[in-house]
Amino acid sequence: MASKLEKSDTQWQEQLSDEQYRVTRQAGTEPAFSGMYVNHANEGVYLCICCENPVFSSQNKFHSGCGWPSFSAQSEHGVVSHHIDKSHGMNRTEVRCQHCDAHLGHVFDDGPEPTGLRYCINSVSLSFNASK
Ligand SMILES: [Zn+2]
Repeated sequence: MASKLEKSDTQWQEQLSDEQYRVTRQAGTEPAFSGMYVNHANEGVYLCICCENPVFSSQNKFHSGCGWPSFSAQSEHGVVSHHIDKSHGMNRTEVRCQHCDAHLGHVFDDGPEPTGLRYCINSVSLSFNASK
């Protein structure tokens, strides 16, 4: 997954649903508590909806009550990238898929130990692969 995956907007629009496109390619946010993975507790791996990069693991998922699936760590160091996001008058850190630059959500520093991180991720930017 070292090289970047690049597609045109048209290609992404063909591949993704309207909501998936809005969130991942236009940095949108799904409504709180609306996502299919908010209370999802099955064991497995969460993949980037755009490129199937395994970005988060159920091992790091925790119940934060914030309304979006929350993880205390990425599945493996470097599978997602962090970017300063000053949009909407806030100082936040945006989380993107390292492979295809899909917007996944934001990361905050009020998560559980040992990482202290809370990755707050849109369900529509993920797909799920259950452990066998
Ligand atoms: Zn991706």
